[in-house]
Amino acid sequence: MSNPANIRLLDNTLSTINKMLYYVRTGSQEITTTGLELLENQVENHGVTELQDSLVELLKAEQRINAFSNSINQLKTKWQDGQLDDSVDIVQVLEDCLKEEDTKYDESDIWDHEFMKNFVDQMGQADSSVQLSHGANASETSDMVIRDARTVKKCPITQSDIEEPYRDVICGHTFEKSAILAYVKQYQRKRKNAKCPFQGCTNAIQNANLQPDTSIRRGTQSKRRGEGSSLQ
Ligand SMILES: [Zn+2]
Repeated sequence: MSNPANIRLLDNTLSTINKMLYYVRTGSQEITTTGLELLENQVENHGVTELQDSLVELLKAEQRINAFSNSINQLKTKWQDGQLDDSVDIVQVLEDCLKEEDTKYDESDIWDHEFMKNFVDQMGQADSSVQLSHGANASETSDMVIRDARTVKKCPITQSDIEEPYRDVICGHTFEKSAILAYVKQYQRKRKNAKCPFQGCTNAIQNANLQPDTSIRRGTQSKRRGEGSSLQ
């Protein structure tokens, strides 16, 4: 069963996955550089929190890539060790490995990721008034607004806290339900693709890919935000 052609196939897959990890690294550096430039040039409404949101998405993607890469490696080892004979369903073995790997990753680990720490550090040094998230488990300090994937988010369309979160399953971005539906409708009338309103996201939003986002709390339930920054 340890057919050299199959092993080569797995090696190719692994090298493709490693390339993706490289893109995550470059993307993270790019996000940090952009944030620094915005702050150093004192751009108003600099959007550094949105940059941090993008970094969160990127690091979540990295977790998934790592889980997949480890699973492929396990499959390769099993293959080489002759543990897999012709009767074994390879796809099933891979799926089982992946399920096991997935349990090792937690979204909250993102906040301890060196890229995230570096981002928060650098932004803080460039402008100490920038309010960034430090994750759910960070100790709360009086001058910091704590935001994480489960706490309230701002809708990029309404610029207000999201009351009824609706998420695009393709790019993972979340919006106010009524706002994103109206947004998509607007584009449909013009027979154009509705580009995701998140800065830098090139995903085309389609109604079929939108669904309620249960991972974040609704704005009305969160009283943790200190400043009344709501625009409406
Ligand atoms: Zn998006």
